[in-house]
Amino acid sequence: MPDSNSTAQNTHQDTTAEKSLDGFTRDFFDTLFTGDQTCEDPDLKYQIHGLKQAAEDKNLTFPIIALFSKLKAIREKNALSPGAFGLSRQDLAALAVKHETIDEHKVSVGGRVCRALPIVAEAIDRVDDYLGVKTQQAPSGFELWDTIRENQERIKSYLKMTHDDWNSYSGQISHCIDTIEDLSKIIDLPERVIREVTHVTQNYRMRLTPYYASLIQTTIANDPILLQSVPTGEMVDNKGVEIPPVAADHSPARLIDQFYPRVVTIKATNMCAMYCTHCLRLAHIGKRDRIYTEQAYEEALDYIRSNHRIRDILITGGDSFVLPNKILEKILTALDEIDHVKMKRLGTRIPVTAPQRVDNELLDILAQSNDRKPIRVVTQINTAQEMTPVSGDAFKRISKNVFAVLNQAVLLKGINDTRVKMWKLCETIQENYVRPYYLFNCSYRNPQFTHFRVPIEKGRDIIESMYGNISGDAIPRYIATAGGKIPLHRSNVEGLVNGDILLKKPWNGEEVRYPDADPAIYANGAFAFMKP
Ligand SMILES: *Cc1c(COP(=O)(O)O)cnc(C)c1O
Ligand code: SF4
Repeated sequence: MPDSNSTAQNTHQDTTAEKSLDGFTRDFFDTLFTGDQTCEDPDLKYQIHGLKQAAEDKNLTFPIIALFSKLKAIREKNALSPGAFGLSRQDLAALAVKHETIDEHKVSVGGRVCRALPIVAEAIDRVDDYLGVKTQQAPSGFELWDTIRENQERIKSYLKMTHDDWNSYSGQISHCIDTIEDLSKIIDLPERVIREVTHVTQNYRMRLTPYYASLIQTTIANDPILLQSVPTGEMVDNKGVEIPPVAADHSPARLIDQFYPRVVTIKATNMCAMYCTHCLRLAHIGKRDRIYTEQAYEEALDYIRSNHRIRDILITGGDSFVLPNKILEKILTALDEIDHVKMKRLGTRIPVTAPQRVDNELLDILAQSNDRKPIRVVTQINTAQEMTPVSGDAFKRISKNVFAVLNQAVLLKGINDTRVKMWKLCETIQENYVRPYYLFNCSYRNPQFTHFRVPIEKGRDIIESMYGNISGDAIPRYIATAGGKIPLHRSNVEGLVNGDILLKKPWNGEEVRYPDADPAIYANGAFAFMKP
């Protein structure tokens, strides 16, 4: 039924209330009131009546926005004016004023309903497809925990491991899986793969801790854990002329790598708990475990002692957490005693490959050294599947004792080369106290893993898709390693338009003009307190 008194309200009336409203709101009202004045739908009338009542009765912003949003939707869908429900411009203006009075930041109804809410709606669309598929396409070790637990029981009984064996680092290492016989008892491998792996492991070392092996999802052919830990036929096929590995042309002193003036690495061990198929240091790592002498460490420390520019030391390997506690403590203490050394980093993948290593004694050593000079633990997690309740707990405990825990992932085909997999990885690690730091493009230097490489354009697309869609501090820097770390990010500076800089929003491609600082004003040295 049409409201008999609604026809006069179509004309623009500049009431005092309405004059105080902003342009967004007045434009909004103009649009609303061009609609039809009669409504035949009693349900709709009843709904609007209820919303209006709530907006008037409650001293909250939400019911007012609910009413205006509904009126906007009805205007767009049914071409009806608020007049069709007996609402005049004065009625709405009064509610809009009420909204601004309640809201701490005096946000207007037009601004909130016509600008802010549509921007949020568009933003929601950008992530909804991700939220719908992330568990299925990129399950984390938390989400797979039930099958991982089943795997653990199976592996434990096959390797005759006790509960204590499983939960100790020495138990993990002494029961490690380093033959195709052991591996094929744990997972069903086709005959062809068994032959290939047997062949490849003559040249490349394979070693999985039982814990790391339990993360393998046996139902997935190219399982990301399997891909990272079990060498395949491609490694032999790809074996070409080996380009000299980083260490040869960047090692100015024993155990030291350096290409920056103030940051050096000490390659403190060549051992890892698990050997990665994509290891950049393939040539040095893992062929044969070596214990380094005290003399070697002393020579490395002497190089640092005699170079006063060096301020940041990266202890790597191999895996720095493979070092016995007392050696790690000794190196950290020696570094803390060098005046010009201001901070340390420890490179380790152990919280992912053998989290049982992270015991209280190690945490104490970290805490004490971190008290003297900051420690960052730099890890490598490449897929959300590697983050389980056990590794998550290890990271949480580490993060309580050091300055920061950072992740350096490698972009790897089939492991993390989709938007969904990379977002999921970065979110999952961040939720477990690990901050994404670098994403390395897989190196060209080792022909053995050409099959893992992902083109840079693809990597850029993935990284760019993260801007604006997950927290800024969950987005890693995308890096090529080529005698130093070179950023690969795409620029969002498109050019100049009439003196303004043209920028592109990475999340939706929208272009914005950004007025640059005036170079003449910038050139003026006599400013502020120095004005003549
Ligand atoms: C990676 C690396 C560093 C550290 O680089 P940052 O950009 O500071 O993380 C330093 N030295 C060497 C030899 C490296 O390989
Ligand atoms: S943990 Fe690092 S050093 Fe060890 S095998 Fe993996 S990539 Fe290489």
